[in-house]
Amino acid sequence: MKLVFLCFSFLIATITNAQIKLVNDFDNANVDTAVSVANYHNNTIAFTPYLDKFNTENVWFYFGVTGFRRDTIITFLMDYNNNYYPPNYPVVSFNGKDFFNVKAIQRGNINRFYVLPVSDTVYVSTGYPYSYSRLKTFVSSLAGNHYVAIDSSQLTQGGRCIYLLSFTNPSVSSRNKKTVWIIARQHAFESLSNYVVEGMMFYLLSGEESAEELLNDYVFRIVPMVDIDNVVAGQSGRMGFPRDFNRDWQSPIHTEIVTLQKWIRKKSKRHYDMFFDIHCTYPGGTSTNVFSYFDIYGGGSCSQNMNMFWNRFYKFANYRPKIIVDTVPFADGMSADFYNARKYKQLQFSTTIECDWNVNSHGTVWQISDFYSLGENILKAIPAK
Ligand SMILES: [Zn+2]
Repeated sequence: MKLVFLCFSFLIATITNAQIKLVNDFDNANVDTAVSVANYHNNTIAFTPYLDKFNTENVWFYFGVTGFRRDTIITFLMDYNNNYYPPNYPVVSFNGKDFFNVKAIQRGNINRFYVLPVSDTVYVSTGYPYSYSRLKTFVSSLAGNHYVAIDSSQLTQGGRCIYLLSFTNPSVSSRNKKTVWIIARQHAFESLSNYVVEGMMFYLLSGEESAEELLNDYVFRIVPMVDIDNVVAGQSGRMGFPRDFNRDWQSPIHTEIVTLQKWIRKKSKRHYDMFFDIHCTYPGGTSTNVFSYFDIYGGGSCSQNMNMFWNRFYKFANYRPKIIVDTVPFADGMSADFYNARKYKQLQFSTTIECDWNVNSHGTVWQISDFYSLGENILKAIPAK
């Protein structure tokens, strides 16, 4: 009798749970166990971000659900194992495109947030997603632009195009132009860094006089997404096996880093001036602002240049990074920032900038428009000649 009851209960659970379905058939999606633990009656979806054998950190989640009850709130329960991983302000969308923040509450190892469903499908993510598909669409929109050259000749380990986008005014001789390198997304979960880089590119093409001057005086070499394969797979990327991308610059094992080093060597023979590597903090971090590393300068002229740069940034942004720190090299491998500082002594500076997921300088949660402004103000702080 007991067995029959158990079988009956299992059948009921299977039927009711089957009404909640997972949507994860898109680039950059990540979830592990959401459907198996979904509870239709309580409208509750418990989940864990998925890891594969090359990834060690389950920071990133991004998936949709459908088939839930529309007559009450949905409760999402994220299971996590590191206090820095769960977002304080995860994002939600009803169409898979436009996202907004909700507040999450952390207790024990569960990060809980609620959504009032106003459509049949709800998408949730650690933060504003930025997929490889989105980058490809953005790059297509630049095709034929007078100021932009697109190099998609080099491939990732997985056979996807790595984009190198060069911004300059080709009508001005390149003889005296300086070169600025900007890279982002060495760590796949750090989606927000792509909005910073998009903000930079929008500004360069804005037609503003200050942007035109920069295009006359500089060549901006931008690689907006480095660890593309992990972005597509929806993995977190950072501290991945066998080596983190941003610890791989001494003697690289990743095809993508070999390519970047070759590009920088070939395309920076003269007047290489600055290097920026754009990252994000962990979503559960408490830095409350942007912060900036510069690796090896120890108070020398490059440190002064860096500080002067952030003073100029302050004039436009009305805030400075909360932390501007001169760090020692990482013990577990060489970063891009350190590699460029050491190899290219002519640089004014080489730096890593970390963006935050939480509260911005206005005391509200960072929005995409804030990341755009951050990108724009970084470039405005680069002085035209
Ligand atoms: Zn990073």
